[in-house]
Amino acid sequence: MDAKIRLYVEHPLGEGQSVPLDRPQAHYLFGVMRQAAGAHVLLFNGQDGEWLAQVVEAGKRGGVLACVSQTKPLQMPPDVWLCFAPIKKTRTDFIVEKATEMGAARIVPMQTEFTNSGRIQRDRLQAHAVEAAEQCGGTYVPEVGELIRFDRLMDGWGDARQIMFCDEELTTSLTSRLRGEAGPWAIFIGPEGGFSERERARLRGMEAAVSVSLGPRILRADTAAVAAMTLWQQSLGDWQ
Ligand code: SAM
Repeated sequence: MDAKIRLYVEHPLGEGQSVPLDRPQAHYLFGVMRQAAGAHVLLFNGQDGEWLAQVVEAGKRGGVLACVSQTKPLQMPPDVWLCFAPIKKTRTDFIVEKATEMGAARIVPMQTEFTNSGRIQRDRLQAHAVEAAEQCGGTYVPEVGELIRFDRLMDGWGDARQIMFCDEELTTSLTSRLRGEAGPWAIFIGPEGGFSERERARLRGMEAAVSVSLGPRILRADTAAVAAMTLWQQSLGDWQ
C-alpha cells in the first residue's frame, strides 16, 4: 500500500485503534492534500512506532483514521541534548529542525549573558520539531524545553550527563576526546556573541564538560549546531 503522507498525532496507536483528527490535521489531509475516505496515511505519536492507517471519515472540521498495521517500531535517538542560545527567529527554527532530523533526544533553549532574545515561542518551535520528524521518517519527536537561564541549568547539572562544550576560543581539535565516552550527553552552543568569560570559565571548570573545537573558523551558531551534532553522532551516536 502506497502511503506517502506521514502525520504526527497525539493519540495511542495500535492494531484496529481509531484515531480522531483535529481541525488543522483534517484541513491538511483532506483540504490541502486532497485525501478522502479509503486513503492510506502513516501515523506516529513518538511512542508506538509508525502505523499504516486508513481514512474512515473525512470532514472539513475533523476525521477518523483506523490503524491497520505497524510499519516501523519506535526508534529512539541516542541520549544527546542540544543546548543552544536562541538567535534570530528563522535561524532558531533551522536549529530545531536540524537537531530533530539529526537525532537529538531533547532540545534545550538556554538564555546566556549574550543571548539576544529573552523570549522564545516554545509551541512554534515544538511544531517545527514535529514537522521535521514527519518529513525525515523519524518515529520520535524531541521535546523543546522552555527557555532556561544558563546559570539555572548549570546549578542543577551534576556529573551524570557529559557536556560537549563547543568553544570557539580553542585552537586545537579535541574531538578525539569524545571517542568511547558512552552515556548521556549534551552539546552546548553559544549565541552570536559567544559565551561570556564567566560562562566559559564555569563550563571549563566542570568535571562533566569536554571542550571541543569545531575548526579554525568561527561558525555561525546554526552552522555550529549542525557541525557539532554531526561530530557527536559520528563519534558516539547512532551514525557509527
Ligand atoms: N564569540 C564569537 C564572536 O563573536 O566572534 C562568535 C560565537 S559563534 C557565532 C556561536 C557559537 O558557535 C559559539 O559560542 C560556539 O559554541 C560555537 N562555535 C562557533 N565556531 C566554533 C568553533 N570554531 N569551535 C567551537 N565552537 C564554535
